[in-house]
Amino acid sequence: MPKLTKAKLAAYRKRLLEILEELGVKLEHMEDSVLRAENETSPDEVDEFSSENYSQEFQIDMIENEEKILREVYDAVERLDNGTFGACESCGAPIPEMRLEILPYARYCVPCQRNAEESEEKEAPIQPPPPSDPLG
Ligand SMILES: [Zn+2]
Repeated sequence: MPKLTKAKLAAYRKRLLEILEELGVKLEHMEDSVLRAENETSPDEVDEFSSENYSQEFQIDMIENEEKILREVYDAVERLDNGTFGACESCGAPIPEMRLEILPYARYCVPCQRNAEESEEKEAPIQPPPPSDPLG
């Protein structure tokens, strides 16, 4: 079992809830600017996200990325609730506190995270070159 004191768990919960709030605000802002770009209204309301420096596709990628983190953070809060927070989901080893300090929603210990990333890469299908269009 991970040796995290109640005080530490409470601190992590606080951190996670703060991240949730930040991500929520950020996502709202980003989604808002994508919608605004779609509607092409009020061009004078330009902010950092709706500026032309960001293509809409890039913004959607960013939103998807933030949503992924949001889910991870929700899961971490759930682990806090059921008492498995701080234990690697794969091997059960305690996740080093140094790692939790940086990434309080870390799901795996470092070696397992590496394995997960590697197998993710392996699972990604290698796309064959598209067949030439018979209709030319
Ligand atoms: Zn592990």
